[in-house]
Amino acid sequence: MSGGILFDIRRYSVHDGPGIRTTVFFKGCPLNCLWCHNPESIMPEPQPIKRCRQLNGNKEWVDEMVGRQYSSAEVMENIGRDLLFFEESGGGVTFSGGEPLLQTAFLLELLSLCREAGIHTAVDTSGHASAEAFKEMAAQTDLLLFDIKTTDNKKHEAFTGVGNELILSNFKSLNGKGPAVIVRIPVIPGFNSTFEEMQAIVKVLKSSQAKIEAVNLLPYHRLGRQKYQALGMQQPPVFKPETTPEQMQQLMGVFEEAGYKVKMGG
Ligand code: SF4
Repeated sequence: MSGGILFDIRRYSVHDGPGIRTTVFFKGCPLNCLWCHNPESIMPEPQPIKRCRQLNGNKEWVDEMVGRQYSSAEVMENIGRDLLFFEESGGGVTFSGGEPLLQTAFLLELLSLCREAGIHTAVDTSGHASAEAFKEMAAQTDLLLFDIKTTDNKKHEAFTGVGNELILSNFKSLNGKGPAVIVRIPVIPGFNSTFEEMQAIVKVLKSSQAKIEAVNLLPYHRLGRQKYQALGMQQPPVFKPETTPEQMQQLMGVFEEAGYKVKMGG
C-alpha cells in the first residue's frame, strides 16, 4: 500500500456529495485562486502554521504543522469508522483538497479500495490534471464535483495562476458512461459574477456529454482570510461588492433556463 500527504480528514460532512460523508483533504494544488479559503491546501508539503490554543486556561498562539504523511491503510481505517452512517444516509467518502489529482497514485489506490469495500466515492476536482490521470480517476469514481470558474483563458490564468485549457478539455472528455457530475462554480464579484460569464459556462456544459446532475453556485465569502497570516502567506485581495442573494438567484436562473437543476452552496 502507498501513501500521500493530507491536511485533514473530516467526518460527518453534508456538503460534499450525497448523504453523510467523510471528506479526505489532499495537500497540494496546482492552482492559486485569489479567493481560496483553504490556503493551507496549496503547498504540497507539510508547512508551519500558527494556531490559537487553550493552554492552562489561557489562549496562546502555538506553532504547529499542517499536513502530514498518511498511509492508505490509515485513511481506510478512518473511512471505515462511519460505514453505518454511509449506509443509512446514502453517503460515502469525498476526496477533496487542494487537488486530489496532484497525488494521482494515492488517489487511485484509495478509490480502488473504496470500490472494493462498496463505498460510494466523490472526487472534488479543479480538473487541472493530465488527460490520462483524469480519465483513470473518472473510471473509478461514482461522482465528480467539478469546478468551473470561467471560460476565459486569460482571466483564468490571471486569477488562478493557470490557464483553463486542461480543465475544459478534461470536462469535455466526460461522457454518459462516466461518473455523475455536479458542476461547482465559485461566484466571485469582479471575476465571473455576470450573466455573460454564466451563459458562457452553460455553452461548455451543453457541449459535453457528461451526466450533469446539478449545478451548484458557491457565493464568495471571506472566511479563511486569517489563515493566510497564520501561514505567513500574503493576504489575498478582497472582492467587492459582494453578490447579493437576489443577484445569485438571477445567475442561478441562467442555468435553470438551460434545463439544469441548480442550488446555491455546496
Ligand atoms: S482550486 Fe480550490 S484549493 Fe486550489 S487554489 Fe483554487 S480554491 Fe484553493
